[in-house]
This record gives sequence, structure tokens and C-alpha cells, in this order.
Amino acid sequence: MKTLNSIRYEVAPVCGGYTDQVLELDLSSLAISTIDVEPVYRRTYVGGRGYAIKMIWDQTNKETRYDSPENILVMASGPLGNEPRFPGTGKFVVATISPLTDTFIDSNIGGHFAPLLKMCGFDALAIKGISREEVVLIVDGDEGTIAITEAPSFGKDIDAGGLRYGEALIREFTGGQFTENVAAVTTGNGALNARFGIINSLFYDRRRRRMRSKQAGRGGTGTVMRFKGLRAVLVRSSLPRVQANNPIDKQSVQEAGAKLKKVISQQDPQQLNLGAWGTPVLVEYMNKFHLLPINNYQYGNHTDAARIFADVFLERYFERKVPDGCYMGCNLACAKGAENVILTRGPRAGEKVGIDGPEYETLAAVTCQGIFDPPYIMEYNWYCDEYGLDTISMGVTAGFLMECFQRGYLSAQDIGYELAWGNIDAADRLLHETAEGRGIGKICGQGVYRAKHWVAERYTARTKASMAETMTELNKFGMEVKGLEFSMYICKESLAQQGGYGFSLKGPQHDEAWLIFIDQVHNEIPTFEMKAQALKWFPLVRTWFNAVGLCKLPWIDVRHPAAADTDNPSQNQPTLQYYAQYYGATIGEKKSVQDILDDSERLHLLQKMINLRQGKGTRAFDRIPLRAMGPAYFNEYQSRSDYYDEWLKEHLEEEKDFPLSPEERHQALLKLRQDAYQRLCDEVYKAKGYNSMAVPLRKTLERFDLLDEKAEALLQAYGV
Ligand code: SF4
Repeated sequence: MKTLNSIRYEVAPVCGGYTDQVLELDLSSLAISTIDVEPVYRRTYVGGRGYAIKMIWDQTNKETRYDSPENILVMASGPLGNEPRFPGTGKFVVATISPLTDTFIDSNIGGHFAPLLKMCGFDALAIKGISREEVVLIVDGDEGTIAITEAPSFGKDIDAGGLRYGEALIREFTGGQFTENVAAVTTGNGALNARFGIINSLFYDRRRRRMRSKQAGRGGTGTVMRFKGLRAVLVRSSLPRVQANNPIDKQSVQEAGAKLKKVISQQDPQQLNLGAWGTPVLVEYMNKFHLLPINNYQYGNHTDAARIFADVFLERYFERKVPDGCYMGCNLACAKGAENVILTRGPRAGEKVGIDGPEYETLAAVTCQGIFDPPYIMEYNWYCDEYGLDTISMGVTAGFLMECFQRGYLSAQDIGYELAWGNIDAADRLLHETAEGRGIGKICGQGVYRAKHWVAERYTARTKASMAETMTELNKFGMEVKGLEFSMYICKESLAQQGGYGFSLKGPQHDEAWLIFIDQVHNEIPTFEMKAQALKWFPLVRTWFNAVGLCKLPWIDVRHPAAADTDNPSQNQPTLQYYAQYYGATIGEKKSVQDILDDSERLHLLQKMINLRQGKGTRAFDRIPLRAMGPAYFNEYQSRSDYYDEWLKEHLEEEKDFPLSPEERHQALLKLRQDAYQRLCDEVYKAKGYNSMAVPLRKTLERFDLLDEKAEALLQAYGV
């Protein structure tokens, strides 16, 4: 590996979860800098997400796009992400200006990369500029060196991939020894050809004795990484993990962690049982409650769904005896995987591979294309990871194109073949074409928002239909908001989840507000007011996990038994108290749940200001497709007409208003749903301290000390 630039440095020790150092790279000049962070910074802009939001607010501008040299790719963990004594650590965020949304995106990812980066002395890595050639960054805490090298070649096949390139790189670096002390982030060539490129986090799993991977899937962070010319980042540190986070009060951290581990070990087997099944367990729930996206979210339930329930994957692919944590100390251990799967399709057919997953989201991204085939799901999972494609955006965009074919907006001639629901050969072909940027795959790689415009142009040229009317139709079932594809929950019947997707600052990804389970499965927020309140509270708590470097699942997916005795069991407050204890004990300050909410609200508001600056922050950008609110087309209404008629009767003011014809009933239902969503916007904006256009009020920003000159000018531009 030919070195292009390198420095020697003193490894800063971790104290109370922070090193107060950021590693900055300018790939245009290949400059490497270590930056001291003022202590005030970490108090105000907490951890991974906070550092990323603040850097992008300060150092990019309204013209910055994903491919601008000044765009920054930030990888940052928070103060709590490096602690084997507490379950669910090891997480970090990757954040940047997104190729899909043109505004701030952050994607949460696990593995050993961020803990090792912290042990190498850095709270965050910030990458600017664009390199003329592909490079690799090596941060070696053991040697006290940071180097930018030419990206080595391992042959055409391996160079094209993300997983196998990363493995080859680690092998080269370590002389063939995989170890937990070395980790990498990398992505494949598909990330160069699609806007929804991912970043793989590669780490050695000593139980499975192989390199494993987790993904930062959403919003195209991998596309930005490859566009900058950064092929991979390697980190190494051999410091012992158990002291690596160096909390101020170790005893209290130990206590909080032990309490949460006990809740997990006692409650998870009686609840979702993620430790045994992994997230595929959700397929059965989602199918039962009509929430599983089938044929581009047209239907939520299917008789074939049992073919892909968790027991099938457990029996056929997952190794039962292996506890699968994605970082040390996580006893929820939901990160399932499969060994020695022989690929039957695509360019690597015949090869034996290990596959990490599938997670629920990947399973549902395949049902979104009308496919219920476990072997295809496994291969889809592996190829997306290897190519560097987001399984969600890939599946939703494929589903959108399939529906365009179903409804006649695209012909087989436009596509090059029959892109029909459930056709595995066609879906597989589209996947490989997308990764390679060929044929219709080139359009698919642009995501739903841009594909809608391409389809409309083709269709209107062929049929002479009106462009405006065509776009109106495509907007009904093009499942994106702000340019990001929906994640995998049908929200037609959950007003709370509609808001959860529509108001999400990065676009419709459930990590900001996954309310579908408490709203529809548990029915714990039945009233309009409760839903509106949940849409203020849950996003703040959920995004705090991304700020401090933690996984949400031990909090949200394992209910503490004492939560049942609280005013709002869905908030799982008894477990949140453990988090407050852990946070305070690590940084050496007493912290309450309210402090967590306040820290998070400041970040939420600053992210909102970035959205406004990028032209994506107002009420118009919280609109959701008609299909997200109800049965957009008559065939969807017909598939559950009894249920919809019952719903309509309950929600009409007078029984006499119940329409006679099914077509009128369908339209009346859609009208009620659209009105309810608009009322929800008003209510939630008020609760968040925004005006009716979704712009924060001056006093809201003042409360968090965010009303500087730049923010003031932006408010004025929006007439506030
Ligand atoms: S709960 Fe699952 S995803 Fe979260 S840290 Fe543990 S193993 Fe990883």
C-alpha cells in the first residue's frame, strides 16, 4: 500500500467517554489534521449525532450537495458507545449531505469501528474534499500513526465489492490475521452507481470465526464516501476494551448495565424473543396486523408470508447456538447470520459466503417486490451488502418501478423486460443492473423521487398524457418523502406512524419515530392527542440514542415489567432511568431523562435549521403520498372493503353520510384521512414550537441558545 501522506501523533486518552479530539481529512490536498474540541462543544452538541449536525451546519452551505468538495462525511460515536458493561453499545452515526435528499442525513451503524476509533484517540472522523485517486485511510493507535495510502487492488472481482474488498484489505494489513483489534468501513462499486450507497462496518466475530458486517443503510452515505475517493478506513487499537471508555463512576456504570442486562435476559424470551429469532420475528406480527409492505405497500398481508417467518430462517440458516451481539456485552444479541450459503445467482454464483442478516427491513424490502422466497432473500441481502446498496431503498424503488409496469406507466419496452410482481428473475436482474448502473438499473439507482420524473417523461411522450396529471398519479404511490424511500411499515392505518414518517427530519426512516407497534399492535396511544404527544416525545428520545452511540432495541423492544405501573407504559421509563444513570456515571454529571430530552431537542432544532437552509424544511416537505394515508387505489380498498367500511362508519359524523357506492366510500375515506393528517401537522408543529408552516419560532430557538446571526437570517427569509 503506497503511502501518500502520513503523520505521527500522540494517542489522546479517553476520559468520561470522550477524547476531545477530532480527526479531520481533506482529501483534495490529502491533509491530515487532529483538532482539539472545546469542552463546551460536547456539552451543547452531544456525541456522534451532535458533532455531525454542528459540523455540517457550520461548514456547509445552502448550495452544498453530496458531491460538493465542502460536503463533509462524519463518522462519530458518542460518549456511551464503547462499554462492554452496558448492553447495546458500539454504535456510531455516519452523517453527510445526502445524494437522495440534498439535506442532512445520518445513519446509525454497529460493530467495532467506532470503539476502536475512540481508542485511537478520536471522538469523530470528518472527511472533506475529493481525492483524485482512490485512497485508504489507516488510523493505527498501536503505532501512533495516521496514513493515507493508495487503495490497493486485489483483482477485478474483489475490487468491485465492499465486503470482500474490506476483508482483503484487513488481511493485507494484518498479514492474514483477523482480530477484534482491527475493524474497517468500506463499500462496493454499487455505491458509485446508485444514490443509495451504504457503508459496511466490518468486524471480526470470534464466535463465528469470520469477518462480519453491519450497515449504515439510509440516505446514500456510501455514495458520498466513494464519490470522495475514499475506498476504506482501517482502524487498529489493542487497548483492553473494558477500560476503554474510562467512565468517571465505573461502579455506577456497572450497576446500571447489570440491571439492564437482567431485564433483557428475563423479559426478552417472554416478549419478542429477539435473542432467539432476530428481527425477522417482526414479519409475523406485521403480516398479522396488515403492516407488511407487499407489492409496493399496496397490501399488508399475504397467505405466502408464512414462507418467510422467523422460524424458517432459524431452521434453515441461523446457527442456533451462537449468541450474536454486534458489540461486546450485548446480551440481546439479535444480529443473526448464516454460514456457508452457496450463491445461485448473479456474478458470484457458485461461491460459498457468510451472510449477515436478513434483518426484518431486508425481508420486507423483498416482499415489497411481491417475493416470498427465503433463498432469494438471502442472496438479495448479500449482494446489496457486497455492492454497497441500501436494501430498503433498492426494494422500494424496484417496487415503484414494478407498480409503474402494473399500471401501464412503463412498458416492457421501456424496461427491457417484464418487471412483474413476484418475478424473481426480473427482480434479480434489476438488482445487478442497478449495482452496475446499466439499463433500467441506472434509473432505479436514482431512487423513487428521481425515477418518478423519468417515468412521467417517458409516459407522457408515449401517450401524450398531461405531465401534471401523470405526476399526480405517480405521487400517489411513489413511496418517498423529502427524497428518501419509506422504511418497511405500512402506515395507512396508523395516523401516528404517518406523522412518524412525514415529520422525520431525514425522511421516512423509522429510527426517528417507530410508533407503529405501540399504535397498531399494542393500541397504547389511541387518541389524537396521545398520538400528537408521542410525535414530540419519541423522536427526541430515539435520536438521543444516535447521539450517544447506543442501540435503541434494549430500550424499545424489551419492556421493563415495572413500566406497566407507569402513566405511559410505551415510554418504558424504568429502563430509561438506567440510561440516565449510565450517561451521568460515564461523563461525571448527574443526568435525568429530562436532560436527555433537552440535549436531544437542541440537536433536533439545529437539524431542522439545516433542512430549512437546504430548502427542505417547511410543511410542504412533510407531505406524504396518498398510499401512506389509505388505500390509494380502488383495488387496495376492495382488498379490505369490510374493514374500511367499518372504519368509515365509525369516523363519519352522521350515519346518513355513509355513501351508497363503494367508489364513493373509498373517496370519502381518503378525504377523512387527508384531513386528519393536516390536523396532525397543526397539532405537532404547535407542540414542537413551530409556526403553521413548520418553521421554528424565534422563542423556540432562543430556549436552546440557537438564535445566532445565521439562524436569525434564515428565520427572516421564511418570514418569521
Ligand atoms: S440489540 Fe442487536 S443490533 Fe442492538 S447492539 Fe445488540 S446485537 Fe446489536
